[in-house]
Amino acid sequence: MPVDMTHPVLTTLESVLDTARPLTSGAVADYIPELAKVDAESLGISLVSSRGDVHDAGDSDIAFTIQSVSKPFVLALALDEHGLDEVTKHVGLEPSGEPFNAISLDAETGRPLNPMINAGAMVTSSLIAGATADEKFAVIKDGLERFAGRDLIVDEDVFDSETSTGDRNRALAYLALSTGSLAASVDVATAAYFRQCSVAVTARDLAIMAATLATGGVNPTTRERVISEDAARWTTAVMTSCGMYDDSGTWMVNVGLPAKSGVGGGIVAVQPGQFGIGTFSPRLDERGNSVRGVAMLEALSKRYGLHMLSHRGEPHSPVGSLRSEEGRTVAELRGEIYFAAAEEIFTRLTPLMNDDGCLVLDFSNVTRVGLAVKELFRAVPQLVGETSSGQPRAIVVDPDGVLDEA
Ligand code: GLN
Repeated sequence: MPVDMTHPVLTTLESVLDTARPLTSGAVADYIPELAKVDAESLGISLVSSRGDVHDAGDSDIAFTIQSVSKPFVLALALDEHGLDEVTKHVGLEPSGEPFNAISLDAETGRPLNPMINAGAMVTSSLIAGATADEKFAVIKDGLERFAGRDLIVDEDVFDSETSTGDRNRALAYLALSTGSLAASVDVATAAYFRQCSVAVTARDLAIMAATLATGGVNPTTRERVISEDAARWTTAVMTSCGMYDDSGTWMVNVGLPAKSGVGGGIVAVQPGQFGIGTFSPRLDERGNSVRGVAMLEALSKRYGLHMLSHRGEPHSPVGSLRSEEGRTVAELRGEIYFAAAEEIFTRLTPLMNDDGCLVLDFSNVTRVGLAVKELFRAVPQLVGETSSGQPRAIVVDPDGVLDEA
């Protein structure tokens, strides 16, 4: 008989839905008239682990337009295509502390301050390959689909509505053009951007897209590499500092997850290496962030200690046991060895590599070693040399080759 147990993650998600449901403050965006037609009561959350397990609660299947949540993903595509140096010739990386539609250009360089506000996002879209808006959008749509792991459609009514009310965005694009930041004509850049904002997604799509950033660029549900690890890390970093507009600093203290919101009511949040979350609830606060989405992520983070900088306790020592065996001292190492563990190994074990015999560094129970220290461990026997009687002072035992893995 199958076990009758609700998955604890689902219980958790249901409980944060309950926390958010009573909140009715805020208002659905109506500056793009078509957005005002959504059901304000919709409420959904989805969490996708870095293994690709999907957990859905509430209205996680209801479609809404992605709006500004598209910005980090299009940034990731631009970074993947051009690299950081080229992209930052056109757009900065500094938090603006201003609303999403602010006239926000660096006084010296004329670049929009960052790619998460509209001015910077249109510049990012202009950098995507293609001479026309259709060509650029085809690349963008294909990229968003690979992030989501399924085909997506454009909400044409929202697109028309956005196009017919988009003069402020055109004005921002003209300013970026005047400073040499925009890499296409205003018409091309804005049309590509309006279409990208009008792509319909669900909270589950957003969670999968966020999980793709959490894994370092591989969609965990399709196993396809969508962008490089560098592009994923750079994008997540920009979300950390700029994703919630002029609420980004408070957000980082209260929630502590790289995130991005959109006026369609969606929010994505990333816990690097662990999971991605997508939330949906259309009523927005005065900064354009979903009221209930923010509440759900705050509750999740606080109740379950998800802040990415939360202290996880003292790490386990990487030195499992030290024993004498046939005149040698065997140091059995274990677990994951990154900076702190490597530092402990060298501090504690270097004094044992002396003239009295041989120290064996046994990596049999080590699961992973940080890139920076692999070579150093491999080199230890050469570095410490031989005893005066010609015996090696150190031997490295690594039956599974954890020191060789790329
Ligand atoms: N399409 C919207 C705009 O440009 C996106 C804004 C947002 O989601 N914050 O105004």
